[in-house]
Amino acid sequence: MYVYLNDRIVPAEDAVVSVFDHGFLYGDGIYETMRAYNGIVFMIDEHIERLFRSASLIGLKIPYDSQKLKSAIYETIQANGLENAYIRLTISRGCGSLGLDPEFCQKPSIVIIVKEQKDYPKALYKKGLKVIIAQTRRNLKEAINPRIKSLNFLNNILAKLEAKEKNANEAIMLNVYGKLTEGTISNVFFYKNNMLFTPSIDCGILDGITRGIVIGIAKKQGIEVKEGKFTKSDIYTSQEIFITNTTMEVMPVSELDENKYPVGEISKNLRKLYRQKVKTYIRNYRN
Ligand code: PMP
Repeated sequence: MYVYLNDRIVPAEDAVVSVFDHGFLYGDGIYETMRAYNGIVFMIDEHIERLFRSASLIGLKIPYDSQKLKSAIYETIQANGLENAYIRLTISRGCGSLGLDPEFCQKPSIVIIVKEQKDYPKALYKKGLKVIIAQTRRNLKEAINPRIKSLNFLNNILAKLEAKEKNANEAIMLNVYGKLTEGTISNVFFYKNNMLFTPSIDCGILDGITRGIVIGIAKKQGIEVKEGKFTKSDIYTSQEIFITNTTMEVMPVSELDENKYPVGEISKNLRKLYRQKVKTYIRNYRN
């Protein structure tokens, strides 16, 4: 396995970052997770754009332009001989002396790790996931805005620990006002009364790229989509629930806390249409 580290492709065992890196010391950095299908990185421009947005929100200047980042991603995928890949691109503030000041760091560290990514088992999409609503509240957007895809992941990890404790696959967090936000690594949707609901960005969530695509597909299908502020009881009383992210795509939820939900037609159909969108994108990108 090979890793991209600061302009070089190196064997995984040699891909080491200093203990003085502020990413390690303070969680000072940003990242993106992408997925490649048949050698093509799906929505690469959107991911790179979001990476630059995260960087700008933490005042970090990425020393590459987007073309160079894209080439580095493809170089890493190819060095590993992969076609279908999970891609993690991390940019930390870089090495510096102790102390929070980003100015102590001369140069950001850029790391790209890839691994094979097959489709999740079909059975999982058929059965749906078990999800809980965590006690851990989502970071307030006025504190650490979840729109910054940062290396500070403890908020999500605390919720993930709760999910594990209850043998659940994912945990949805509320914000401090008791409104639904998002999962630890996913966005949330629920369907009832012929409408599709999802928490709005101002609830304090990451504007997931998959979320955006699914909203677009649903609207095109004539489904009314409501982005807004919703409570636990809004989602409990829904007919169908699903979560979305780049790697899972559209994943049905069959259990939320004590309640059971069918893997229904809306989730199945949106998943199918999402897959078609991926296929079309890959085909067009090739051409
Ligand atoms: N919310 C959080 C907290 C996430 O980590 C992710 C995964 N990147 C998402 C939502 C989904 O985003 P995307 O659809 O862009 O993968």
